[in-house]
Amino acid sequence: MAEAVLDVRDLAVEIDGRNVVDGVSLEVGRSEVVALVGESGCGKSMIAFAVMGLLPAVARVDRGQILLGGEDLVQIGEEAMRQVRGDRLAMIFQEPVSSLNPLMKVGEQVAESLVVHRAVTRQEAWGKAVEMLRKVGIPEPERRAGQLPAELSGGMCQRVMIASALISRPRLLIADEPTTALDVTIQAQILNLMKELRGFGDTAILIITHDMGVVADIADRVCVMYGGRIVEAAGVGETFARPSHPYTRLLLGTIPKLTGERKHLLRSIEGTVPDIAEWPSGCRFRTRCPLADEVCAETPPFLPIPGDPGHHSACWHLDKVGEIA
Ligand code: SF4
Repeated sequence: MAEAVLDVRDLAVEIDGRNVVDGVSLEVGRSEVVALVGESGCGKSMIAFAVMGLLPAVARVDRGQILLGGEDLVQIGEEAMRQVRGDRLAMIFQEPVSSLNPLMKVGEQVAESLVVHRAVTRQEAWGKAVEMLRKVGIPEPERRAGQLPAELSGGMCQRVMIASALISRPRLLIADEPTTALDVTIQAQILNLMKELRGFGDTAILIITHDMGVVADIADRVCVMYGGRIVEAAGVGETFARPSHPYTRLLLGTIPKLTGERKHLLRSIEGTVPDIAEWPSGCRFRTRCPLADEVCAETPPFLPIPGDPGHHSACWHLDKVGEIA
């Protein structure tokens, strides 16, 4: 892997005395796209908010380090964190329209981080914002820059968010379900745009998604989460060719397949992610896993897969994972 831009070590996030994120370690290298994948409630968005220093008031980092370029964001305090956000660290959200300021011209919103964090005049920043809007594929960017978010479509608002996130060339961009709220055609356009812009200014991307189709499209590496823990991590090719955790294998079965005009969901995973108060002891997937037995009441270690460099999984029954249809 390229030199780590983000290095999360043994991170735990606590709400009401329970760890919603429990000992997560992951790295994102320069220009690399890492996908953090899992169903809702698995803790993936909580990791994004912890990295951004934007945890909800009820949550706090219980232990661990979040190193950005070697600096531990857990330790630096809110004032320094404000400087980091929008400069070295940026985030795009699921709901582009509601994430933009409805009363501010989109050009000003894109220019804002340059005005705040860089020594540029408003006029220079405006010019760079128009250029960035052009780069993300907004037609007539000079005119669009002067409009309010309500005058743009949802897909265009997502492009505006991407432009405002990337204009200061952050070291890390976090994209939290960036295409979920968009229709399928616009989703594909936004993913293509993210692929084009990957590595823009060496920016690394951590993409949070529940959609293995998005993962296949854009990621270099994948970390699969369940019950607040990473259960499998591997390169995207290995993840799809040799999934080594029952949960990953079942997630892969949920990828929609296009058959003519019709979209089929192959299968959904039985049951739902249990509420945090009901997470079982040992392997947290054992209430839904077709391979679960009494051994799984102990927590499986997260270990390298022999003969598959960079591939790790936490399962007692690695030898049987291939039996899951
Ligand atoms: Fe399933 Fe047991 Fe493996 Fe957990 S440890 S994923 S319950 S087989």
